[in-house]
Amino acid sequence: METVRVLVTGGAGYIGSHLVDALCEAGHEVHVLDNLSTGKAANLAHRLDEVLLVNGSILDAELVEREVEWAQLVFHLAAAVGVRHIVDDPLASLLTNTRGTENVLNACFRFWRKVVVASTSEVYGKTAKVPMQEDDDRVLGPTTVHRWSYSTAKAIDEHLAFAYAANRLPVAIVRYFNSYGPRLDERGYGSVVANFLRQALAGEPITVHGDGRQSRCFTYIDDTVRGTVLAGFTPEAEGQIFNLGATRETTILELAEMIKAAVGSSSVINPTAYETYYGPGFEDTRRRVPDVTRARELLDWVPTVELEDGLARTIEWWEKTHA
Ligand code: UDP
Repeated sequence: METVRVLVTGGAGYIGSHLVDALCEAGHEVHVLDNLSTGKAANLAHRLDEVLLVNGSILDAELVEREVEWAQLVFHLAAAVGVRHIVDDPLASLLTNTRGTENVLNACFRFWRKVVVASTSEVYGKTAKVPMQEDDDRVLGPTTVHRWSYSTAKAIDEHLAFAYAANRLPVAIVRYFNSYGPRLDERGYGSVVANFLRQALAGEPITVHGDGRQSRCFTYIDDTVRGTVLAGFTPEAEGQIFNLGATRETTILELAEMIKAAVGSSSVINPTAYETYYGPGFEDTRRRVPDVTRARELLDWVPTVELEDGLARTIEWWEKTHA
């Protein structure tokens, strides 16, 4: 197989570093551009003899150009992620997620590099229609609710990508659905799975927001990464958006019970008002379920890891790294 020079922005992050692993294992040459804001050099510690880690920001247009020029294929994952981050610092998040992507796409256009843009199921907003198909309408709350700025910024990224695609740039977009697995940020910023794991292992109350009957489709990292790689290397992916998510719907309360049982925790499951975590006026997405027909048909991708297995692997990693 041909070795490809691949740039991964955000490659020191939770998903990015697993993507780097997969690309290295497939024999590709990899550069990572990451400002180590939420990403960690430790996520790539085992790769630093084969991967160039450039500690810099996607807001640095010149640096982005240099790295994109070097590459033959770009995966753009760098972003301010996690609803909690967005709510805590909406301005920096918006600017990173719009200007940064503009820089990456502009450079890809200049040097004619295929680019896979990592987007999110958050783009669908609070639509009541499930399963969600890539071409469905988006339903968002008011602009006074910071949460929706993440959805909006990522939708701008997608619009930008399609605008460049209209000018013949090869682009593909992947929308992630609640990915979890080893290297999740322990503080739980981006993921309820990490939050519950930390709480369950410490014997602290497991904070289920609201009535806990809101649902998500938790997607194991190996599935997330395999779909992303396929979007980069499959010619039919160009010009398309793909939902990458498991199809099993799990309520947050069920997740809390599963994690509590899996770690043998004595934690109590503690219903908590949304406001205590996110501040007043927060709005949540009630159900989020992907339709993955397109990924199956064009990428030959289906999610394969059951939640029980994925949680067991994540717990194993957690216990090993926190021993
Ligand atoms: N959540 C929760 N307790 C926590 C953290 C999150 O009940 O400690 C809920 C959150 O309100 C949402 C769901 O879990 O309904 C998923 O949250 P997450 O931040 O993982 O991702 P989202 O799907 O909202 O982007």
